[in-house]
Amino acid sequence: MDQRQRNQQEQQQQNNDDDQLDDIQHGPFPIEQLQASGIAAIDVKKLKDAGLCTVESVAYSPRKELLQIKGISEAKVDKIIEAASKLVPLGFTSAGQLHAQRQEIIQISSGSRELDKILDGGIETGSITELYGEFRSGKTQLCHTLCVTCQLPLDQGGGEGKAMYIDAEGTFRPQRLLQIADRFGLNGPDVLENVAYARAYNTDHQSRLLLEAASMMVETRFALMIVDSATALYRTDFSGRGELSARQMHLAKFLRSLQKLADEFGVAVVITNQVVAQVDGSAMFSGPQIKPIGGNIMAHASTTRLALRKGRGEERICKVISSPCLAEAEARFQISTEGVNDVKD
Ligand code: ATP
Ligand code: MG
Repeated sequence: MDQRQRNQQEQQQQNNDDDQLDDIQHGPFPIEQLQASGIAAIDVKKLKDAGLCTVESVAYSPRKELLQIKGISEAKVDKIIEAASKLVPLGFTSAGQLHAQRQEIIQISSGSRELDKILDGGIETGSITELYGEFRSGKTQLCHTLCVTCQLPLDQGGGEGKAMYIDAEGTFRPQRLLQIADRFGLNGPDVLENVAYARAYNTDHQSRLLLEAASMMVETRFALMIVDSATALYRTDFSGRGELSARQMHLAKFLRSLQKLADEFGVAVVITNQVVAQVDGSAMFSGPQIKPIGGNIMAHASTTRLALRKGRGEERICKVISSPCLAEAEARFQISTEGVNDVKD
């Protein structure tokens, strides 16, 4: 076999591989698809009423949870699990295939080129990014900017999708979105139309909103999900040491539901978190340290943790604290009328 033939053969093999990749169907699959696998429409409806809107959400749920759905027998649960796991890949794949899949993950621009650089393009879709920092450090401003940039075309650092905003602090301002939209040359009213907003009033309500979020995400393409802040209501709904373990359990469940949205719909989940001053022995030597609230539960739930702090004037500094693939770097950015931007020296 000469070189030309070998090249041809390699090319053919490459094409076959590509075809195979294309053959793998991409989710999320609407839950109704289970009917084709012999699950009765009435049972599909029961799943949907329980907040399971996609085949993925069923496949990722523990059996125990499915058994709690009223009117679905144990035998039916097993049949549903079997049908779901036929549609959603749950086993091992090669690292090569995973690599190919991860190429599809997009990053949403923060609005600052410097910041995007240390984030390897921006906020990653398909996982949870936590922003923590003291008051006025720019968490809410960054969330507002992302609501606009996520609507941009892919080649402009966007996610070509809508944004969803759960506001626990009452600091969402549509007017800011209009100012930011102007900067990116987007039509203001369209930008507002593409942001679904809900105010959360207590931790139970905040969790319930995620069910509605899932059913909306099945209908339309969302690129971003924001919870600002994810922990504020927990600080007031649960108080003192006595309720600490109940609080952590509730928070863990909430964060797990968020992770599920990221897995199912490939949205970028961005949560903000408040900080407290740490008062222990170390403060004597290094001054008061701040730490994000939510403890280990919070630390483990977020894939990427970013710490924001104030610099001089409008200047802010963002540091990558923990990430599976980013270095612990720092970047400066600025809060301006047009949202998060590069520092103008
Ligand atoms: P908190 O913990 O209180 O929620 P935060 O980290 O969310 O704080 P942000 O609300 O994001 O803080 O940031 C507030 C900062 O943004 C303020 O310093 C404010 O001056 C600045 N800011 C808000 N709007 C504008 C604007 N239109 N132009 C310039 N700067 C602005
Ligand atoms: Mg805020």
